[in-house]
Amino acid sequence: MIEIRALHHRPICGDRQETPNNPQSECRWIAFSITALLLASGAMAQQPRDASVSLNTSDVRIGLSAGSEAPRLTRIAGLAGADWLNQQPETLPQSVEVNGAKVAAAWHLKPALGSADARHVVFVYESAEPHMLLRWQWEARAAFGPVEHRITIENLSGQEIWLPMVDSLRLNLQTPQDMALRNLYVEKGADTPSPQGTHVEPVSEGYRWIGKSSTYAFPSPGEQREIIPALFVYGEDHPQSGWFAGIEFSGRTRITLVRSGDRVESVLGLNPEPGPFATRIEPGGRFETPPVFLGAFTAGPDGAGNQLRPWVRAVLGNPRTWNDPQYPLTVNNSWGSGMQVDEALALRMIAQSKELGLEMFHLDAGWFRGVGDWYPDAKKFPHGLASIADAAHMQGLRFGIWVDWSQAALDTEPGALNVHNPAARGWLISDLPPNWKPEEFKGQTIDLGVPAARDYAAKEVKRIVEDYRLDMLEHDGYLVAQGCVRDDHPHAPPNRSTMRIVHDWASDFVLASNSTDVSYHAVRAYYEIYEKLRREHPGLLFEICNDGGRMVDFGSAAHGDYFSITDTYDPLSNRRAFYDTSHMLPAAMLESYVEKWPVPRSENFLYMLRSGMMGWVSIMLDTTAWTPEQHETTKRAIALYKEKLRPLIRDAELYHVSDRPDGVHWDGVEYWNPVRGNGVVFAFRGATPSESEHRFVLAGLDPSRRYRLHFEDGSAPDREVQGSELLSTGLDVHLATTLSSELVFLQLI
Ligand SMILES: [Zn+2]
Repeated sequence: MIEIRALHHRPICGDRQETPNNPQSECRWIAFSITALLLASGAMAQQPRDASVSLNTSDVRIGLSAGSEAPRLTRIAGLAGADWLNQQPETLPQSVEVNGAKVAAAWHLKPALGSADARHVVFVYESAEPHMLLRWQWEARAAFGPVEHRITIENLSGQEIWLPMVDSLRLNLQTPQDMALRNLYVEKGADTPSPQGTHVEPVSEGYRWIGKSSTYAFPSPGEQREIIPALFVYGEDHPQSGWFAGIEFSGRTRITLVRSGDRVESVLGLNPEPGPFATRIEPGGRFETPPVFLGAFTAGPDGAGNQLRPWVRAVLGNPRTWNDPQYPLTVNNSWGSGMQVDEALALRMIAQSKELGLEMFHLDAGWFRGVGDWYPDAKKFPHGLASIADAAHMQGLRFGIWVDWSQAALDTEPGALNVHNPAARGWLISDLPPNWKPEEFKGQTIDLGVPAARDYAAKEVKRIVEDYRLDMLEHDGYLVAQGCVRDDHPHAPPNRSTMRIVHDWASDFVLASNSTDVSYHAVRAYYEIYEKLRREHPGLLFEICNDGGRMVDFGSAAHGDYFSITDTYDPLSNRRAFYDTSHMLPAAMLESYVEKWPVPRSENFLYMLRSGMMGWVSIMLDTTAWTPEQHETTKRAIALYKEKLRPLIRDAELYHVSDRPDGVHWDGVEYWNPVRGNGVVFAFRGATPSESEHRFVLAGLDPSRRYRLHFEDGSAPDREVQGSELLSTGLDVHLATTLSSELVFLQLI
């Protein structure tokens, strides 16, 4: 084996909270070395023993080896000395199906086709018969945070090939038997947050866990909630070092975790259930596993989150969005009036938005002629939507709308997607009975994995954006298929003997052997549509809603700008969904809708507003019904959000400084920006009459420094405190009223 030890130069951000999108700016250059094999030389062909290479960021180092018949991830090492050896060699697909017959595949390393540099490692394997190329790739797209992995398989055989399940990542990590471990994972706030949401489970001998995600949770009774597809596995004892991994894909995926003896096994990838999974690769086509990220961390779940959130922003996020200082925007949304929207209401809301200092008017469902007929209802909007957009723009506001653009229904006007139209009928994920009827904003989903359906949807979405002069497009409902009855689509045909179809509120949900493959194709088509739209309209914002938080994942994070994180909008549900989701995703991407809620006292009113102001805030209330005092309170709250909270929400570290909100006791979240030396604690008092005082033990501060505390509502006089006190006995907050709140600003002295 010939090794070269090469010096590579790569920028590493000294201040990643400030400019994570632009690792080139404000970054210092450091030199580091990798041990790289001269893959392109003939040396490896002569000596096909395992050859190793490592890939680093400032947070993780992984070892990779190119065996002659299979590659291998050899180790994951963190910075605090944590090091896990991986016992699992990659299992390349042993066989494929050609013309209905199983054909064994024999893979051999092709050193000349591979490459390795400081950011990217590719090992290439070839199967001579049937002829396929497999690329096993690892990439460090940022100087910090996790590395990413994907496998692509290209069909060079000239014939159609059917590929079995290929997992994205398989880990089998040597772990001391006596080491106490935990697994943290969080549920999506889909529909409504469950009583638990954030799970921290002991990973003891015999532990077996599986977490699933898809584009639209439709659980059977008793079935476990869907998760944001990632897990944090770490030692229970200080310094709580561990590894984390997640999937950058919105389709049907699963993550497993099993502990047995001195091994911890984890598999990430497409969900093989109900299966058997098979996917078609056309001649010249390719299959790509959902990309995964893998990193190492210390300091427990918030240590992981404070690395993962900026990484999502820097690597998956849209730089144009993050470069906009108004992001995350403050929004006035019409859903407080439900489907009863019209031009007069829209113009009134635009005027109110301007007065309150909000930055976008969001016209929710109810504006259209019908489902699949995405033209303004002429009775409600006699001058169309472009005139509403113009009215918003005249006031300096942005304009966005709700659409469920992959759904068809019964409208027959030109431009409507009608389920009885012969072309559309062939795209539907199931056959409809003759008496089928849509609901007022729900219809039947088309399978975007069909190229003609994808092209239709791309054109229609582009028309909507351009005709209505949109700055923001929200998609909702069951948009991306994950199961389909048809056998003439690019995905695998379903096994009809085991297929189940559930009818729910006008939409069908198909669970069949092909469900994962259907979702694989449909998600890729959905991504293509949004990637194209982003190229054509670079400033356009995408809200991912899907009935409130059903499509919260890292693939969506790479294709959208913010998420509706739950469909239940009371203060407690908003705080719960935020608490859970903010473990994994940047706070700025997490939207809470603030709905009408009983507010007998002004303290309750602020509590309601602030419960939705820890990330992206959308007001969803009839502001014309507010008292003058409530108007003034909101104006001040929005101004404070823009001036002091938004910069922290964008850039600061986030710490979960309480248990998950229960509405009974106190809860809170701390933001701390170590670069600027400022932060804030959102403090919420629960319903218990006797608990007028609480201490929040803070994190991220310097025990040897002093901090100035400012209590925004004046619940206590400003004071100076030693960092060590805030980190041990904690920050003392007194509030006289139940269901009230305070913002405590921190400033390093
Ligand atoms: Zn289909």
